[in-house]
Amino acid sequence: MASSPVILPFKLIVKMKRTVSIIGAGIGGLTTALTLKQKGIKSIVFEGSEEIKSVGAGIIIANNAMQVFKELGIHHKIEKAGNKISYMKIKDEQLNNLNVIDLRVYEQKYGVRNTAIHRGELQKILIDELGLDHIHLSKRLFKIQKSELFKLTFEDNSTIESDIVIGADGIKSVVRDQLFEKSTLRNPNQICWRGICETDLPQKYHNELNEAWGKGKRFGFVKISDKKVYWYALANSKNIQPDNINLVDYFSDFHADIINIISATKKEQTILSDIFDLKPIHKWQSENICLVGDAAHATTPNLGQGACQAIEDAYVLGQLLDNEPAIENTFKPYENLRRKKAHTIVNTSWTVGKMAHIENGFGIWLRNLAMKNMPKSFNKKQMDMIFNLH
Ligand SMILES: Cc1cc2nc3c(=O)[nH]c(=O)nc-3n(C[C@H](O)[C@H](O)[C@H](O)COP(=O)(O)OP(=O)(O)OC[C@H]3O[C@@H](n4cnc5c(N)ncnc54)[C@H](O)[C@@H]3O)c2cc1C
Repeated sequence: MASSPVILPFKLIVKMKRTVSIIGAGIGGLTTALTLKQKGIKSIVFEGSEEIKSVGAGIIIANNAMQVFKELGIHHKIEKAGNKISYMKIKDEQLNNLNVIDLRVYEQKYGVRNTAIHRGELQKILIDELGLDHIHLSKRLFKIQKSELFKLTFEDNSTIESDIVIGADGIKSVVRDQLFEKSTLRNPNQICWRGICETDLPQKYHNELNEAWGKGKRFGFVKISDKKVYWYALANSKNIQPDNINLVDYFSDFHADIINIISATKKEQTILSDIFDLKPIHKWQSENICLVGDAAHATTPNLGQGACQAIEDAYVLGQLLDNEPAIENTFKPYENLRRKKAHTIVNTSWTVGKMAHIENGFGIWLRNLAMKNMPKSFNKKQMDMIFNLH
């Protein structure tokens, strides 16, 4: 079993045997640490922030990731803290159906349900399960060097050496930038607003994710509890000044239920973000180092799979550890097993994002027609690909 690294001030270094350091306490880093803990491997998570703040937004944890949480024994906690989603509906601006995916067949098959939850609730469950003693806060990695071991230098000038490093430090990963080939972040020229509000949304929406596609913009909403609704809105970023936009006006051509959701959200509780993804990179590991989550395969959020794919990374590492006790020996097979699916998600998500944001009237008509007439077999193939863990 690995022992934990000791942090020393300034440049003193202590060598310890078989230390596993995870950089980043996002969903990817926490789920990886939890998986290792379940397999009897102790790791320490180094998180750059002073505290693990929860973003004021929701997240949808899809069936594939819920299966992983079932393996970790925490799916009931997550389902209880969130709201179960049985339908995913793509609609037009007036909330007329374009494409409906019924998830109940997957609920029966896998015994878990897609769950919409506040990000803070999910983080809390993961941290409670892992134990705060596994997480070192205010440890922002600044430099990583490989000699016999990895030397990690943090922004506070403390340094440690670690045998094994897992980079779970997100899309702008320092680990990736310093130890892997040059990578490229891609900008789809879309911006995203997110928020949570309390409102009495009609009961018919209770177990659904709805996403309304308009002209160069879209609006998604889902209940995360009886009263709370998590919503997101995206728009083509060319020719708009996002800070000056009044969302009620901007979405005035959308259904009244959408306007009500926007109106029920305080402006200061709305988060505005640029959207990026990582152009697929083929190497996620080398010897005793490995990337997981957004650090390895950040995707646009159009399939709602970024965190789910990070969670799947942890699962595959865990599965490989069942037959291979030396964690570093699992990195290469992990990359081989995960790369194809993760990259398919990245590329499909990019295409869906472009389709959802068509601005030309004829193009929108054609798109909506295609969505309405999408063969059920196509939806099934997509969902099977996403929800099957291997
Ligand atoms: C608008 C939007 C909606 C989304 N919706 C969904 C959804 O519904 N479902 C879904 O599955 N995914 C969704 N995602 C994607 C999801 O949020 C990410 O894929 C997921 O959070 C990635 O987790 P991660 O742990 O790999 O990285 P991150 O969440 O980025 O975590 C990285 C962690 O590392 C820390 N860190 C960074 N650099 C350093 C450093 N140098 N030293 C130490 N610590 C460091 C950060 O502080 C952070 O805590 C969405 C994304 C967006 C933008």
